[in-house]
Amino acid sequence: MSLPADYHMHTPLCRHAVGEPVEYARQAVAVGLAEIGFSDHSPMRRDNFDNWRMNFSQLDAYVEKVRKAQRDFPQLTIRLALEVDYLPGHEDWIRELAARHPWDYFIGSVHYVSDSWAIDDPQKLSEWKHRDSFEVWSAYFERLTMAAESKLFEIIGHADLPKKFGHRPTRDCTPLYELFLAAAKKSGCAVELNTAGLRKDCREIYPSREILQLAFQNGVPITFGSDAHAPAEVGMNFAEAVQLARSAGYRERRCFVQRKHQSVKF
Ligand SMILES: [Zn+2]
Ligand SMILES: [Zn+2]
Repeated sequence: MSLPADYHMHTPLCRHAVGEPVEYARQAVAVGLAEIGFSDHSPMRRDNFDNWRMNFSQLDAYVEKVRKAQRDFPQLTIRLALEVDYLPGHEDWIRELAARHPWDYFIGSVHYVSDSWAIDDPQKLSEWKHRDSFEVWSAYFERLTMAAESKLFEIIGHADLPKKFGHRPTRDCTPLYELFLAAAKKSGCAVELNTAGLRKDCREIYPSREILQLAFQNGVPITFGSDAHAPAEVGMNFAEAVQLARSAGYRERRCFVQRKHQSVKF
C-alpha cells in the first residue's frame, strides 16, 4: 500500500526553510509518495508581526512556486495550502487570505499562546522558565479548541505542540483534549499526524498516542504531514506514523481538493 499524502511542507519564503518546492516534489517522487501539499506559514496582516513567515506581498510568488512544481511533476498530485496561525481576533484576516487563491486546504495551527509568545520558538525558550506547564497547556488547548470551532480550517496542525522542547505537565490533561476533540468533531476538521515531533526534543509524533486514541474514539478524521523545512524531510517517518494511526484504529485518512474532503484508505 502506498504512503499517505504528505500535507505539511514549507518553502524558503518563511525564512527558516531551505529548498524550492520542485526539490520537495523530486524527493516526494523518490520516496514513493503519490500526493503532497505545500502549507507554508501564512502572512499576517502586519508583515513585521514576527520573522518566520512570508510577507503578504510574497503570497502570489508562493502560489507560483507551487504551480511550477505542479507543472514540472505532472505524475505527482500537488496541493496548494497554507499553515495559518490561529490567534483570536485574526478571523477576518484568515477569511481574506482564503478568498485570494483557490486553496485546497488550510492547516490551522496555534503557535502563539499570547500575542508575543510562540511556544515553539527556540529564541523564546527562556519563557518556559517563568511558566507552569499545565497553564501553558491550558492556554494552548483553549486556543486550539477555538481554532477547531472557527470553521476556518480543514486540518488542525501538530495538536500537542507544547511538548516540543520536552516540557510535560504533571496534571492530567485529558479534559483539555476532550474539549478540543469534541470541537474538531463538531466542525468536521481533521487532526494531522505530524512527524516533525520525532526530530525535536520530545522525540514523539504530534499528537501523542493518548490524544490520537481519543480522536479515533470521537470520530475525528486524520491527515499526515512531515512539516518538512528541507527536501530531505519529505515523507520522513511516515511508516511509523501509519503504524501509530493504525494502532489507534484508523484505516482512512482525509484528502482535500479546493477545500472539499474525501476519505481515502491507507
Ligand atoms: Zn516553520
Ligand atoms: Zn507549525
